[in-house]
Amino acid sequence: MTKEISVLVEQAQALCVESGARFTTARKKVLELMLIHGGAVSAYELLDSLKETDSSAKPPTIYRALDFLLEQHFIHRVESQNAFIACNHFTDDHQLQLFICERCKEVQELHSPQIQQSLNEQARLNDFLIHSQTVEARGICHRCRQD
Ligand SMILES: [Zn+2]
Ligand SMILES: [Zn+2]
Repeated sequence: MTKEISVLVEQAQALCVESGARFTTARKKVLELMLIHGGAVSAYELLDSLKETDSSAKPPTIYRALDFLLEQHFIHRVESQNAFIACNHFTDDHQLQLFICERCKEVQELHSPQIQQSLNEQARLNDFLIHSQTVEARGICHRCRQD
């Protein structure tokens, strides 16, 4: 585990202590695996990785851990890929937009106040109450375009 990853896991741990959330070993392990993996990862890929250290791991272990991590805003769902990414700056609930590379599968998390403002403005104009939102764009990332 690189230093950067262990620092993020410690940060997540501290936030859970503060909020009283139960950061169990399985939950911590799943977050670690996601940070190590990088990019978008599916529940089944995570299950396979988890099984390497815990052969008794079952799908519900993963799903419960993912639900917890989503609730804590440590990870985000990538709707169009049926996958998840680790958030690299654990803060409170935040709105985001995603750039998904179709070649290397890397997912870039963006926080554009302009996009958010436009969406909120449209919701207001249409008297629509937003519960959740997904803004995902697929394409080719900078690095893959160099090849
Ligand atoms: Zn985030
Ligand atoms: Zn790429």
